[in-house]
Amino acid sequence: MLILQKEIECLNREKDIQSKLISELESSLELHKFKSDTLQKELSEAKSAIAPVKNIASTNTYSQVLQKNVKNEKNVESSVLLVKSADRNNRDDVLQVLSKTIIPSRLNICISGTKKIKEGVAVYCKGDDDVAKLKNAVNGQLNGRLTANELKKYNPRLLVKNVNFSDDIKDDKMLIENIVGLNDMDDHADLKVITKIERTRQIVLEVSPDLRKKLLTRGYVWLGWRKCPIVDHLRITQCFRCCKFGHIAKQCKSSTSACIKCSRDHMANQCEVASDQVKCINCVSYGSKSKSHVQVNHAANDSHCPAYINYVRNLKNRINFD
Ligand SMILES: [Zn+2]
Ligand SMILES: [Zn+2]
Ligand SMILES: [Zn+2]
Repeated sequence: MLILQKEIECLNREKDIQSKLISELESSLELHKFKSDTLQKELSEAKSAIAPVKNIASTNTYSQVLQKNVKNEKNVESSVLLVKSADRNNRDDVLQVLSKTIIPSRLNICISGTKKIKEGVAVYCKGDDDVAKLKNAVNGQLNGRLTANELKKYNPRLLVKNVNFSDDIKDDKMLIENIVGLNDMDDHADLKVITKIERTRQIVLEVSPDLRKKLLTRGYVWLGWRKCPIVDHLRITQCFRCCKFGHIAKQCKSSTSACIKCSRDHMANQCEVASDQVKCINCVSYGSKSKSHVQVNHAANDSHCPAYINYVRNLKNRINFD
């Protein structure tokens, strides 16, 4: 009897220990679950923060964008003449002065629209020929009152890929000497190094229009220990905060942020909008500015976004490819 009683006591103690162990295990399981939930949440937040970067990067394969025939896309409506008041102190309504004297139909100029700028007006023409005609007319007939100039065009940029940053091309001077020496170029006057990106093994060069043609026709440059592919390069930027083009979040001056999916003022990872409710903030303003019907039911980082296509087209129009 006594032995049995002791055995029962012993078993009871063991039961206590077991149940304690079980409850400990349970609480540890809960803790792990909690931790895993938090990690899952953090992971999905990080993922959605990265997602726009990836998407934008994929829409920004500049070489692809530019490899479409650049000339075909030119002259759509972005050939522009800047007309300003000649007298800085007298900034009358430039457009009024202009439209009283210049009659487009007489000069056979097609104008797609005008936009007020700081010191005057930007006149968008059908093509570069129309810009030249209008410029002559303004400078001839309104000499002294208004001045007209084309938008300043930049030299094109090229991306050199798969670069081996060996010691012989460490600084810009060596790099230029190397490119000029190895690639049948007369001098380095029309060649400038913009950036060297060692992480992605790329170099961005600024070149003259003629040199661009020559290098692109060949498709590569001899550089250090490699034969490196060379393609057109456009710097396309989109802000993660407000989704607009032309700047990055660090430089953003917008008072509110805009969700890349639905345009509202929250982060994309907090967006709960259904996929058929997406709305592109850039196309909303592009539609109202251009007074035309623009599809807005896509995310602001969609590669088919009309505002994005327009931005790239305008960017290309500011580059001197000829
Ligand atoms: Zn911004
Ligand atoms: Zn949203
Ligand atoms: Zn859009």
